[in-house]
Amino acid sequence: MEEKIECSICLKPIEPHPNDTRQWGGMYGNNPDPITKGRCCDTCDCLIVIPARLGMQGAAAIELGQVMLTNRINPPDFEKIKKDLIDIKLKKEEE
Ligand SMILES: [Zn+2]
Repeated sequence: MEEKIECSICLKPIEPHPNDTRQWGGMYGNNPDPITKGRCCDTCDCLIVIPARLGMQGAAAIELGQVMLTNRINPPDFEKIKKDLIDIKLKKEEE
């Protein structure tokens, strides 16, 4: 059995999620720089690492992190969005 990579921030095993749209499926975690070295899980990446890179703290950092995490775990249906936009454009052209 392949050994799971541990998050270097929360120390939990890094779990890929089924809807991950990234090439590597999220199984190798994320770069936790500048918080620490190693790899980090999506939760720590969204709630701690990315806000820290943007110089954000407190409520604003948590709010941004929650939106990013929600979108990463359950990404929007981009094909549907594309189709809806085309439909809207076609409808406008008909008018
Ligand atoms: Zn973590």
